[in-house]
Amino acid sequence: MSKDKGFVTEITPQSEDFSRWYIDVIKKAELMDYSPVRGCIVFRPEGYELWELCQRELDARFKETGHRNAYFPLFIPESFFQKEKEHVEGFNPELPFVTEAGGEQLEEKLAIRPTSETMFGHMYAKWIQSYRDLPLLINQWANVVRWEKRTLPFLRTSEFLWQEGHTAHETEEEARHETMQMLEIYRDFVENFLAIPVITGQKTPSEKFAGAVDTFSIEAMMKDGRAVQAGTSHYLGTNFAKAFEIKFLDRENTQQYVHTTSWGVSTRLIGALIMVHGDDRGLALPPKVAPTQVVMIPIGPAKTRDAVIARTDELYAELKKAGVRVKVDDRADQSPGWKFNEYEMRGVPVRLELGPRDMENGVAVLVSRISGEKRIVSEENLVEEVQKMLEETHQLMFENAKRFRDENFLSVDTLDELKADMEQRRGFYLAGWCGSNACEHQVKEETGATSRNIPFETEEKKSKCLVCGEAAEHTVVFARAY
Ligand code: AMP
Repeated sequence: MSKDKGFVTEITPQSEDFSRWYIDVIKKAELMDYSPVRGCIVFRPEGYELWELCQRELDARFKETGHRNAYFPLFIPESFFQKEKEHVEGFNPELPFVTEAGGEQLEEKLAIRPTSETMFGHMYAKWIQSYRDLPLLINQWANVVRWEKRTLPFLRTSEFLWQEGHTAHETEEEARHETMQMLEIYRDFVENFLAIPVITGQKTPSEKFAGAVDTFSIEAMMKDGRAVQAGTSHYLGTNFAKAFEIKFLDRENTQQYVHTTSWGVSTRLIGALIMVHGDDRGLALPPKVAPTQVVMIPIGPAKTRDAVIARTDELYAELKKAGVRVKVDDRADQSPGWKFNEYEMRGVPVRLELGPRDMENGVAVLVSRISGEKRIVSEENLVEEVQKMLEETHQLMFENAKRFRDENFLSVDTLDELKADMEQRRGFYLAGWCGSNACEHQVKEETGATSRNIPFETEEKKSKCLVCGEAAEHTVVFARAY
């Protein structure tokens, strides 16, 4: 059995082999396991809880902005995919089909959804008649399947969990506003909840969603310098409305096509979280998404054990009441040192140690997973001190990630410059681009880097295309991506 699949005893250092480090960490921290079906993973409770916390937070933000949840079926008739030309071309290679059920051939093959624009389109055509039915703002939490050639746990799996929002509007302006609003919700969530800095921008035509007019994304840098597309929001124009006949009577009583949007983030975010924050000791979880924010470890000799545990339990109750996700590990058969390593490996942001001497002095010791700082705090202020350390940890993690990204974000003028730098390292590269597919393709062919997006904000505007030297139409971020 290869090391990938087996039991992990040691975590490979990041500098030795980043991919191996990643697999070691997610296995050792029990986030996932491989399933017998290639490209599919089992989300173990430790990993699934990360997703549940993301879900809870995002769901609240979707609802605050007027969206409601619904559930649409897993199976989509094959003919639906034929209705939008670009969509079918983009998704056909990844579509799995059910052709037989109950021992009989099906009359029409059923695709297992890779995304649900077609199914929503079909239903929206029935539900929307007039401008009074608009906007229609629906999200679903679901699993989807894309038969990926290259897979990596969380980051790219054949079946993954996600949310997909699908909205229909009276006007282009309104739909574009929605597209941007959802991109901004993703940016804010990823930066302020997951502590991952992102670059927001527009995808180039060759990288946009199949069937979209415009695709926008947030892109994050992993600790090996590679990019992860962390979320996408699409303005679909009237493409799906025309394919599915989603029409409405407008305020002047004329028939119009609706303008639609779709947007999604997936369990890929868990992979990004690990690769942005983890280190050689293992996982490092930002406090807001950590299933356990504080682990309490009673220490000291056997004779004071019961008293220390009793006090630990009281403090536990206080923290819990204040809404901190806290856990006590008072197992007698593991040493404190072993426990310290274990919870560091699992990425718990704050450790609280309590010993007999601390008890006498009315204090407890807080230790930060990220800075290693030890803080002796009064028991009276424990809740505030813990909350402060959690908040500071979030800030520090965001700043560390941002500094790393800035240090590995270079500006280049030519393809040769890009190639030379990529031989030394991996990072993000800001470069001018003339807008032609050929030049974009050449960058990919020669370096493996793809255009990530055309950032909304850049410190610099490039004047020449890095490949052909003609006038640059856009300033683009190129990077190797997962
Ligand atoms: P899309 O519908 O292609 O715009 O993708 C929506 C979201 O799902 C994006 O955030 C992607 O990064 C993510 N995603 C796409 N393919 C996969 C995959 N195979 N595994 C996990 N996440 C994915």
